[in-house]
Order: sequence, then structure tokens, then C-alpha cells
Amino acid sequence: MKVVFWGVRGSTPSPGESTVRYGGNTSCMELRLGGGELVICDAGTGIRPLGLKLLREGEGEPTKGYIFFSHFHWDHIQGFPFFRPAFVKGNEFTLIGAPPGDETIQEILVRQMNSVNFPVNFEYLSADFHYQPVSNNVSMEIGATHVRFIEVNHTSRCAAVRFEEKGKTLVYMTDNELERSSPTPFRNFVNFCNGADVLIHDAQYTPETYGGHEGWGHSSWKSVIRLAMEAGVKRLYLYHHDPESDDSEVDEILVRAKSSAGDRGLEIFAAHERMEISI
Ligand SMILES: [Zn+2]
Repeated sequence: MKVVFWGVRGSTPSPGESTVRYGGNTSCMELRLGGGELVICDAGTGIRPLGLKLLREGEGEPTKGYIFFSHFHWDHIQGFPFFRPAFVKGNEFTLIGAPPGDETIQEILVRQMNSVNFPVNFEYLSADFHYQPVSNNVSMEIGATHVRFIEVNHTSRCAAVRFEEKGKTLVYMTDNELERSSPTPFRNFVNFCNGADVLIHDAQYTPETYGGHEGWGHSSWKSVIRLAMEAGVKRLYLYHHDPESDDSEVDEILVRAKSSAGDRGLEIFAAHERMEISI
């Protein structure tokens, strides 16, 4: 599996001099599975430059892939109307997610692009779309990769995903407040992440800034370290950085997280735009 991060920021885009190293685009990760299948995790503003790259690489050939929406808050869908491959006839995408309430994935995306919010309606998207709603403990196969989902602790229904192929495992788990135990207790996250080669997790807060943000649906890095340690994760990527954290503050979070983990075998990184991972 190969990963490229295209947006690592949470909540709202945060461009500018003070965030240029980690990047200001909201959540989006490109994943290539062993068979070459394309899976995009979240459609924050990072999906716009990813879409341009896919168009350049595609050289007129149709693009097929999957887009996993962890949930449907702005920072995870706001890039979708700017994802150019969605406007190209012949392209084909399966949209995966766990929508809250009675709305379908399609209805939520149509609503985002209604004329009050956006100049071009969803019906102008010429690609073919398929929809795959998921829920707790549902699994599916993409090529030779086994894919599982778990509901996480956010303010709206939100899912994490685990990819397993050829003995290698990647978990993408964002917008998860580990300090809470509803709807999912900590022990279930440990089981879900068990033995992962790579865990990508929301680390929006420090232990200090978490105070005052209880119930907002995000974790402090300290809780993320605890999860990675207890689950026996090999590499941890801190993700969904707070828009208020400038580059030096994310650096400091990384230093503190590494110090906290010590030399117990967990490697820790802070995700930045265009960072690449091989698993
Ligand atoms: Zn978010």
C-alpha cells in the first residue's frame, strides 16, 4: 500500500506563512492498494490538487476509484465540488460512508452543491457514481484488500477504516475523541487498531488545549499515543492538525509525543501535505 497526504488540517483550511510546511488543506489522503486500486480517504480541500494530478496522470484514460467519507462535516466534503475527475464522463467512483440520520450519501452531496451554496449543481458531475453505505463491523473487499469499518466518537456519525492486505495493515481514524467512550469504548479501538503497521489518527489537541474542547469530537495527542501503544501499532501519523496550530506548534506536539512514547518501538510522525508512506 502507498499513501500520499493531500490535506492534513482539521476544521477549516488554514493557508499562510505560518502553516506552509505542514500545509493548510483540510483532510484528504490518497491510498493505492496493492492491486493499484485508488482509495481516497476524505474529500477536504486537499482533494482538489489530487484531482488535478489524477487528470494529468490519466492521460485521457478513465479514472476509477473509491472515495471514503469518514463523515460529512465541511472539512471532509468541501473539496468534493472541486474534484475535477468527478466532472469527466467515463470516470467511475464508489462513494463510501456512514451518513447520519435518514439522508443518503448522495442526498448530502447534492445538498452541498445546491444553488444557495454552490454555482454548479451535482447533476453536472458527469462521472458515474455508486454508493456504498457502511456501518459498524461491516466489511468489504477491494481487490485483494480486506476493508473493515468502526464507528468513532464524534459529534456526528463518523467511521474509521482498516485496510489489510498481504499481512500489512493501515488504519485511517480521524475525528475521534478517544477521551469519550460513546458510542465506542477505548478497548474497541485498541482491538480495531491491533497490530497495525500504520495508524493515521486525529491529534487536533494537546492535553492543555483539549481542556475547554471536551465533547468537540477530537483527541489530544496523548490519548492517541496511548491507543497506539496498547494496540501495538508500529508507525503512528498525527493528523487533522488544529487550524490554530502553526508549524512550530505542530513540531512541538511531535517532539512531546515522541518523548512521551520513549523507546518502546513506536515510530511517530506528524503528517504533512505530499508526505508519502509505503506499507
Ligand atoms: Zn474534521
